[in-house]
Amino acid sequence: MKVFKFGGASIKSANAIKNVAKILNSQDLSNCLLVISAMGKMTNAFEKITDAYFNNDQEKLTESIDFTSNFHLRIINNLFAENHVIHQKITVLFRQLVRFLTQNKSRNYDYLYDQIVSYGELLSTIIVSDYLNEIKIHNNWVDVREIIITDAVFRDATVNWQETEKRIKAKVDFSKLTIVQGFIGGDLNGNTTTLGREGSDFTAGIFAYCLDAESLTIWKDVLGVLNADPREFKEVQLLEHISYEETIEMAFYGASVIHPKTIKPIQNKKIPLIVRSFKNLNSPGTKVSEGVTLEPTIPCFIVKKNQVLVSISSLDFSFIVEENISDIFKLFHKYQLKVNLIQNSAISFSVCVDNNLNHFDLFYNEIKNMYKVSFVKNVDLFTVRYFTENSLEGIYKLGTSLVTQINKNTAQIIIQKK
Ligand code: ADP
Ligand code: ASP
Ligand code: MG
Repeated sequence: MKVFKFGGASIKSANAIKNVAKILNSQDLSNCLLVISAMGKMTNAFEKITDAYFNNDQEKLTESIDFTSNFHLRIINNLFAENHVIHQKITVLFRQLVRFLTQNKSRNYDYLYDQIVSYGELLSTIIVSDYLNEIKIHNNWVDVREIIITDAVFRDATVNWQETEKRIKAKVDFSKLTIVQGFIGGDLNGNTTTLGREGSDFTAGIFAYCLDAESLTIWKDVLGVLNADPREFKEVQLLEHISYEETIEMAFYGASVIHPKTIKPIQNKKIPLIVRSFKNLNSPGTKVSEGVTLEPTIPCFIVKKNQVLVSISSLDFSFIVEENISDIFKLFHKYQLKVNLIQNSAISFSVCVDNNLNHFDLFYNEIKNMYKVSFVKNVDLFTVRYFTENSLEGIYKLGTSLVTQINKNTAQIIIQKK
């Protein structure tokens, strides 16, 4: 069994979907399962529907539903004949969504989010599946909500591995290409759940694990895993081989090319992961498996933006000890501020936290009564694995360095941009 995953960028338009079909035609599809995300940036668009609905903003709601509906209609008009059944299927799905919005009584935002945002993956997989069948790449569309079973923690559901493995083995028809949705699952009460943003890579890892796949291939808009995000760094190089451990380390420090949860299940069964380009079939991509840590061994750069550097000392200049640190961490947890770096001295305690949920001000309002607190907002945290002197110089040039922390393989620098 082989598992392939295609993300949003690979199916963002009718032409992109045709390109996916071309790739599939070049591959051996016997014993293959396809995991597919929502098209393009449709998850963001469905998030807008959720917000408008939750805030009871009728105008924005209509506008955002029209936007997602027109996006999909344009694509199917391009791919299918006018009388193809897909037109009806898409209309039915949008009617179903509107009916849900009209009948729903819940005020649980996370529950609503999952019921609404999941339409992105339902629509994309139905369209891709019908298009592939149309061009004789015969396949079965499967509703993954009936097989990836999770708890009911909406927006961040945890997989019930035992039940999921049982259902995957019972429901996957090995005689045909199987197409499933990434990112979404179902709880035991039949509600839709999601695995966290960018979770489709993880879905692919779940299937690879449960099916004892011979390999997992993730098709991306980049040549493979590079030594830096090409959106942030000008000169980047392809990494040919990375060990599972090193990939987990890179994901931990914030490399966003593979969802961090993807690796553990496939590592447990030693299933190789290939990250390769849907734009360039000649490039072999990156292989993640056992063996050498990093090939070539070059510095790898990871940047986390929108960080806050907070320095905390006691009001009376006494030492910061375990009890204080415990208080401070309780507050980080309370306000969901993810700690990315810690620097400790006798009288002060500095921490770099992620402010992506914008909870920092709430945290500050509470802690300022207990401690002396200063902070710098909007700093960047650079992590360089396998750093060299030269590789750090480039980073120091980007602005004022506020903290540097160096250990054997890893340098971390907090930069306040010029
Ligand atoms: P998908 O279409 O599967 O959702 P993503 O957009 O989530 O794909 O991931 C691919 C993107 O990840 C690339 O376009 C690239 O900008 C970014 N990226 C971040 N870090 C790296 C890295 N080290 N190597 C390659 N791509 C990276
Ligand atoms: N469509 C989901 C998202 O954009 C899942 C994914 O693409 O991995 O987060
Ligand atoms: Mg993604």
